Amino acid sequence: MNHDPLSSATRIVAAGRPSRVPGAAVGPSVEFTSTFVTGGDNAYARFDNPTWRAFEEAIGALEHGSALAFASGMGAIRAAIELVPLGGAVLVPQHSYNGTTALLDKLAEAGRLRVTRADVSDTPAYIDALDHTDLAWVESPTNPMLEVADLPTLFKAARESRVLTVCDNTFATPLLQQPLTLGADVVVHSATKYLSGHSDLIMGVTVTADPQIQQRLHSERTLSGAIAGPMEAWLALRGMRTLHVRFERACANAAELAARLADHPQVEAVRYPGSGAMLAIDVRGGVGAAEAVEQAVQLWLPATSLGGVESMLERRRRHTSEPMTVPENLLRLSVGIEDVEDLWRDLDAALSSSRAS
Ligand SMILES: *Cc1c(COP(=O)(O)O)cnc(C)c1O
Repeated sequence: MNHDPLSSATRIVAAGRPSRVPGAAVGPSVEFTSTFVTGGDNAYARFDNPTWRAFEEAIGALEHGSALAFASGMGAIRAAIELVPLGGAVLVPQHSYNGTTALLDKLAEAGRLRVTRADVSDTPAYIDALDHTDLAWVESPTNPMLEVADLPTLFKAARESRVLTVCDNTFATPLLQQPLTLGADVVVHSATKYLSGHSDLIMGVTVTADPQIQQRLHSERTLSGAIAGPMEAWLALRGMRTLHVRFERACANAAELAARLADHPQVEAVRYPGSGAMLAIDVRGGVGAAEAVEQAVQLWLPATSLGGVESMLERRRRHTSEPMTVPENLLRLSVGIEDVEDLWRDLDAALSSSRAS
C-alpha cells in the first residue's frame, strides 16, 4: 500500500469508488437495509454495510490502514479504549478532547482501568510516563490548547516499551499527518469534523494497519452497536471528497487570522501551531470580555464543534469538564472557508467592542 503513487488529494477523490463497469453509478449508493439474503458475505447490517465500506476505503487509503466507521467519534474512541486490558493503565495528555477524558475518568471510577496524565508536548515527561502504561493516548495538536507533540519520538518510545498507542487525528486530518506511518497503532477521528466537513452529521472512525487490532475493533463495534446510519456514511464520504480543497482554504485563512490576531490589542495570546485550521486566543479582559466576543460576532457562529465550512468560536471553559489549566478567557476558533477579510472584519469588530464591556 505504501507503494501506491497516488497523492492524498487524488485518493480523497478516487478511493472507495464502485467498480468501473459500463452503466454503473460513479459514486456509491446508500443501502437502506437491516439484513441481507442468506448465502452472501454479510449476514446482518449491524456487522457491515456496503455504504460504510466506501467511506472506510477512502479514509483507510488516506491514513494507510483499514478503517471502521462508527456512530460517532466517541463510539470510535470507546472501541479503542476497550483495547486496554481489565485494570490496565491509560496515559492521556493533560489537555485533550474533554469527552475522551470524561470517558476515561468514568471508567477509572468504575475500576475498569487506571488513568495517568502528562503534558504531551513535553516529550521526556510523556516518555517517562509510559512506564507501567498499557495504552498511550495521543492528541496533537491538543484540544483546545493547540500544543504539539513529537509524534515519531513518542510512538517509537511506546513501541520499545510495548505500549499500545492511539492517536486522535481529528484536528490535523491525514492531510497534515498520518500517525500510522509515524508508528501509531490506531488512529481515531471524529468524522463529524473535517472529514465530513459540513456540520451536518455525527460519525467516527478507527484506522489501524494491524489485522488483530482491526478484528478486535470490529468485534467491539458489532457488539456495542455503535454503528453509523447508512445516510450519515454516504454524506460523510460525499463531504470528504472535497476535504483537501476545503482544508487548504481553511488553513490559509487560519494562518492569516493568527498573524493579524497577534497584533490585536484585545488579544493577550494566540495559540496557533503554525498549520491547520484551529487556533485559540486569550481575550484581554477575562471571562466577561471573552463572552462579549461570543455575543458580538455576526458571521462567526458561537457554537461547540469544529471542522465545518462555517467559522465557529467558543469559550471552552463554559464546559465544566474543561480543566482549570485552560484559561477562562480562551476562545477556540474553528476557521472555515469564508472570505478571510469578512472573517477578520467580524472578529476585529467583536474584539474591539469587547473592550467596552
Ligand atoms: C468532536 C471530537 C471528538 C468526539 O467526536 P464526536 O463525533 O462528537 O463523538 C473526539 N475528538 C476530538 C478531537 C473532537 O474534536
